[in-house]
Amino acid sequence: MMIRRVAVLLPYPFDRAFDYAVPAGMELVPGAIVTVPLGKRMMPGAVWDDVPDETLPDRRLKPVAGMCDAPALPATLRRFVDWVAQYTMAPRGEVLALALKSNLLQRPPESFGWAAGTPGDRRMTASRGRVLAALAELDRPDTVALAQAAGVSAGVVRAMADAGFLVPARRGAATPAPDPDHAAPNLSPEQAEAATVLRNSVAARRFGVTLLEGVTGSGKTEVYLEAVAEALRQDRQALVLLPEIALSAQFTTRFAARFGAAPTLWHSGLTPSVRRANFHAVARGASRLVVGARSALFLPFADLGVVVVDEEHESAYKQEDGVAYHARDMAVVRARLADAAAILASATPSLESAVNADSGRYAHITLAARHGGAALPAIAAIDLRAFPPPRGKFLSPVLTDALAATLAGGGQAMLFLNRRGYAPLTLCRACGHRITCPNCTAWLVAHRAPAGLLCHHCGHTEALPETCPSCGAAESMAPIGPGVERIAEEAAELFPDMRRIVMASDAIASPDDAAAAARAIVDREVDLIIGTQMIAKGWHFPDLALVGVVDADLGLSGGDLRAAERSAQLLHQVAGRAGRAGVPGRVLLQSFAPDHPVMRTLIDGDLAQFRRAEAALRAPGHWPPFGRLAALIVSAADSGIADTAASALARAAPPPDEALVLGPAPAPFALLRGRHRRRLLLRTPRNVAVQPILRAWLERADVPRAARVDIDIDPVSF
Ligand code: ADP
Ligand code: ZN
Repeated sequence: MMIRRVAVLLPYPFDRAFDYAVPAGMELVPGAIVTVPLGKRMMPGAVWDDVPDETLPDRRLKPVAGMCDAPALPATLRRFVDWVAQYTMAPRGEVLALALKSNLLQRPPESFGWAAGTPGDRRMTASRGRVLAALAELDRPDTVALAQAAGVSAGVVRAMADAGFLVPARRGAATPAPDPDHAAPNLSPEQAEAATVLRNSVAARRFGVTLLEGVTGSGKTEVYLEAVAEALRQDRQALVLLPEIALSAQFTTRFAARFGAAPTLWHSGLTPSVRRANFHAVARGASRLVVGARSALFLPFADLGVVVVDEEHESAYKQEDGVAYHARDMAVVRARLADAAAILASATPSLESAVNADSGRYAHITLAARHGGAALPAIAAIDLRAFPPPRGKFLSPVLTDALAATLAGGGQAMLFLNRRGYAPLTLCRACGHRITCPNCTAWLVAHRAPAGLLCHHCGHTEALPETCPSCGAAESMAPIGPGVERIAEEAAELFPDMRRIVMASDAIASPDDAAAAARAIVDREVDLIIGTQMIAKGWHFPDLALVGVVDADLGLSGGDLRAAERSAQLLHQVAGRAGRAGVPGRVLLQSFAPDHPVMRTLIDGDLAQFRRAEAALRAPGHWPPFGRLAALIVSAADSGIADTAASALARAAPPPDEALVLGPAPAPFALLRGRHRRRLLLRTPRNVAVQPILRAWLERADVPRAARVDIDIDPVSF
């Protein structure tokens, strides 16, 4: 007799699923999480949709070892895993690992008590009724306490949890379900119109993408929350993606005020037990609104109705390591596979999304006015050639005068410099030696708190040497250029009585720290904020009157095709922090190139014109988004092997009539974490997929085994 068999995908870098025998009496639905033997090890895996190989003799099959106490992965998630793997060319198991971490697999710990969930249309019985009655009397009881109070077995309580009647909740904390009508805002006519379009897109219960473009402070968040409310009314789930987890605290507060219940969070900073509880709650559908980082796309949503990508232009949405996926693009795919609406929100849409909106592929709605009549900030440049800072300083007198006036008038001010640490470079004044990282093509960044030299790419640290490592001169090592810590020092000298805060990832390590900092700013415990890109995005600081950009030219030096676009977006976001409520806002950009198109765009406030100019630059050469691009990064510990591998790839490159190949050339970091890196770029017209070309190319190429080839589809910097 034929043994029943299933294909199981393992969360490890295998592309194929492995076949196992199903022991008698075991019921396995597709997506079920099981443990299986592989070699001598036991590992978790998910029953996949692949058809098992029936030609394999029974004796070659090992049996499934057991079932995990975890919800089955829904079909929409399984199809998504397959899709992402196919698109990024990562092994399917590596993509599955983004969804299935083994530490999520046990049932949520019982230190979490039970609270009432919203089961939808589930069977009610007398014993279930008794459990719900007992639940109402107790404060988040655990399984045993609840079963005892209701006079039922623990199995009844567990089954009710699986059916969604019960949701885990930290004892003592209130976690009611979000109520779409809890505190609906009074929308302006412009906002109301946008909200109606978004609500309808969700109510349609089918796939569609809307670009929500609105100037900073126009109420994009208020408006997309109406789409979230509609998903809740439809008894579906909603996912809001944020580019930076530091923001999640301010959003949690806002969402809780709107819906009367805190959203479920998903990001790498959660403790394992909270992650586990949230994972299970999402799978059961008990958790209705999730706010998370890009990895939240891989949660096992039971019924996803809308995905919002806030600040959709952010390059932080691109994952660079492991599975190289762009969360904005994959959010659209996730929505399509779930018959859900996708909403991309930004004040400065990516060229990709703008082009999709122009072509009609995406619906496009615009909010042109700031909420409550607040004016957009007045933006001006300070020409550093004409008004240089004092020797050894970085703030021009024009900027310090403006700061002094704002602070003297009781206003709040912000200094923005997108550079962590004290100084980006340490140099010997005697011989010119620069301290670089031993593992990377990068300078070591000087930090003061805590003190030392740090590589921002590999984490290498060393103490600041007392003598020059090259010429031996004593006390000759000098910090060159500013980081935020140095700007904070200069600000302290200029304005010793003002209360200052530094917001950079070195000082603000967790969303809780960020929330505390934001509260201090909103509560006016701070006069002057000094920060990196961490302060650029999404924050709402009502009293902020002046923003000084210390080095507006910084982002333009990158040299890649998207440098201007990214720089314009970042500076526009920073500028958008100013003047959001009652106070008029003013922004001063310190620049050596005040006539650069990026500065002109910001000063004139005409982003559409900038996008047209960018499009005109990129379209003729089929650069993204007018063509497709993939990068092959060849790396090896030995630079000779990296070169040999790169030449082998170049020799096997597809012919020019099939695709354009550029390189090999040193990768943007020719040495990174101790590996030598070369890069080849492949470009095709938009209607030609790169994956089959890449696959054939890699098969032809004779790459030395000591080298590794990483594929990056749609690289963000090129
Ligand atoms: P954006 O996301 O476009 O930058 P926000 O949604 O953060 O804008 O809105 C800016 C500020 O204005 C927030 O404090 C928000 O609560 C407030 N706001 C926007 N629209 C309304 C409204 N209709 N009623 C009340 N407050 C609003
Ligand atoms: Zn390094």
